[in-house]
Amino acid sequence: MKAQDVLFDLRRRFPHEPEYLQAVEEVLTSIQDVYNEYPAFDRYNLIERLCIPDRIISFRVSWVDDKGKVHTNMGYRVQHNNAIGPYKGGIRFHSSVNLSILKFLAFEQTFKNSLTTLSMGGAKGGSDFSPRGKSDMEVMRFCQAFVQELWRNIGPDTDVPAGDIGVGGREVGYMFGEYKKMTRRYNGTFTGKGLEFGGSLIRPEATGYGNVYFLLEMMSTRGIDIRGKKVAISGSGNVATYTAQKLLELGAKVISMSDSDGTVFVPEGLTSKELDYIFELKNIYRGRISEFAEEFGYEYFPGQRPWRLFKCDIAMPSATQNEIDGEDARALIEGGCFAVSEGANMPSTPEAIKEFLNARILYAPGKAANAGGVSVSGLEMAQNSQMLSWSREEVDMKLRDIMKDIHSQCVKYGKSADGYINYVKGANIAGFMKVARAMMAQGVL
Ligand code: NDP
Repeated sequence: MKAQDVLFDLRRRFPHEPEYLQAVEEVLTSIQDVYNEYPAFDRYNLIERLCIPDRIISFRVSWVDDKGKVHTNMGYRVQHNNAIGPYKGGIRFHSSVNLSILKFLAFEQTFKNSLTTLSMGGAKGGSDFSPRGKSDMEVMRFCQAFVQELWRNIGPDTDVPAGDIGVGGREVGYMFGEYKKMTRRYNGTFTGKGLEFGGSLIRPEATGYGNVYFLLEMMSTRGIDIRGKKVAISGSGNVATYTAQKLLELGAKVISMSDSDGTVFVPEGLTSKELDYIFELKNIYRGRISEFAEEFGYEYFPGQRPWRLFKCDIAMPSATQNEIDGEDARALIEGGCFAVSEGANMPSTPEAIKEFLNARILYAPGKAANAGGVSVSGLEMAQNSQMLSWSREEVDMKLRDIMKDIHSQCVKYGKSADGYINYVKGANIAGFMKVARAMMAQGVL
């Protein structure tokens, strides 16, 4: 297999899917050598079967707003690969959602889920519906309409959706309710559910906490302590806020948060009172980070991302894809940033990744660093199937162990002769090998 030949062909077949092609290119270039050590992979054309999703379900979602106006949105579910377990992956509601973005996310999810050591295949879904500015009732009607189309294609042993951008506990609750009504079944088809109806403790916190646990593992390879370190975070949603919470608990300084309108700079680091305010602002009032800046008198940069505005020791992008470009990466490195741990999926462009690797800083790609979310989703599935719920401490301990294990797998496959750990290579190869072996064993499907 020559990665460039496969990519050439995929570019010809899917010319309008830049994010998907970007994600595939990153994986193929890092697994190429290992792949070629197994000639049978090529005989079974494993690579094309792994890059192209098993199936894509797309549908129209019609819903009625509070004024009685009828709207339509597109809905999708990309079931990428179920070689090692039922399809599993979040649902994204955001105006930017299209098939290229969902295909990249489902592709990444397949390798990420493989890394978690749990039995989960990869999928992703969503809609170009934006919950921003919508009333509770409008969000509910949309979620119900979305599930009325999707319910036939999901189930506890087939495909288990969860949250992502624009889909939190509220939306999962509405979707689960509609699913239950349509199927007349009560089961663990969604994860990220409320605690009262099958949700797991620590699931909301899991992606952010998991990312910090992974960061600690990376820092321990260089004997660096987290206390007092200045951390720039982007985003102010689920992943960003729980990342900040864990960092504060460990004595680090969170010097920024952002949303799609701009960035707030907190030079001495957020206090836990301020973080509580952000939680409430975002989750209850659905407000903007500019309102937080105004309330507490901090500098606010409209329309800007955190990376070039101030110096930091650590960057934890937790908003969206391609939010750190080459120039941002150079600014971070020049400012003394020694670690980047990705809460978001594919937040760094290929040029930015190259900069991080060339500078030999600690760099954890999202598929390793943010795998804590889906890991605890897997633990939620396990609890649902046993009709049990584990304690907070038990789930947190399992999450820590999983993140440790993912780190070890990255080291196993990504450590180079000079001792530098290339986490991109490590995560891609480790994630790939398990799925590849399972696909080979199951024949051409
Ligand atoms: P949320 O919807 O809770 O928060 C998203 C945050 O990112 C918001 O602050 C949002 O700002 C900002 N944001 C979204 N799109 C853009 C954009 N185009 N430009 C700038 N800012 C943007 O989502 P999550 O926290 O759940 O997800 C964040 C990232 O983490 C995503 O990449 C997601 O795929 C990834 N992830 C999430 C997991 C989870 O468990 N939730 C698991 C693994 C990865 P605004 O409010 O203005 O839109």
